[in-house]
Amino acid sequence: MRKTLIVGNWKMNLERLGARSLVSAIRSKLDPQSARLKEQREIAVAPPFVLLYAVSQELAGSDILLAAQNMHFEDSGAYTGEVSPPMLKPFGVRYVILGHSERRQFFKETDDLINKKVKAALRHRINPILCVGETADQRKEGRTLDVVMAQLEGGLEGIEASQLSSLTIAYEPVWAIGTGVNATPEQAQEVHGIIRNRLQARFGTELAQGARILYGGSVTPENAASLLAMPDIDGALVGGASLKADSFAAIVMAGLG
Ligand code: PEP
Repeated sequence: MRKTLIVGNWKMNLERLGARSLVSAIRSKLDPQSARLKEQREIAVAPPFVLLYAVSQELAGSDILLAAQNMHFEDSGAYTGEVSPPMLKPFGVRYVILGHSERRQFFKETDDLINKKVKAALRHRINPILCVGETADQRKEGRTLDVVMAQLEGGLEGIEASQLSSLTIAYEPVWAIGTGVNATPEQAQEVHGIIRNRLQARFGTELAQGARILYGGSVTPENAASLLAMPDIDGALVGGASLKADSFAAIVMAGLG
């Protein structure tokens, strides 16, 4: 059984006090005693690097995990402005978002670079969340699956079967990110199903069935339950709606059985 994972990607938002009060408000809205919540949901928030310490303090004693939004693939060196996996580990970072479309678009990250980061994360026992997704033009041209599969293959190049259980894939159609236009559950399911088939072809049925594939792109409290109800949607990567405690908590609890 795949446990649903909900990750809040704060992007370049908030500062120390705002971050602390957001975490504290999220905690107050989630009932830590709820057996259904514990059994059915894993939750993480991904603040900017400089807020990791403050957020880790505010998360102490809760089940909410810490994620990073990016990292470099080397452990150390002359890479001005970068942050390495061993720098993230002491904060208790459990997940790292890699290959987000904003990194691909604005920072020219390639599949090859993202693959190096995926390998570095695995080496340091930080669970990578590998993001893939097509642009509006690519979808219009009928290239969605080619683009997504190329990003998937590129990001997973050289990854061994034994590493798949540490990896999460996030399907995030670029046209749905921050636009208010989410993929329909059927559109998302179609791509998620094909991603899982590809994982199955490469790693075998059992491992592919255990792999989590998140959906991201304008997830809201209104659409979360119908997206999460699809058989191959195992959670959500949430941008805008993760910056408000009410909406993030509602997404976390959407569709709880
Ligand atoms: C994201 O940036 O990963 C994202 C899904 O953003 P939003 O929820 O705002 O569309």
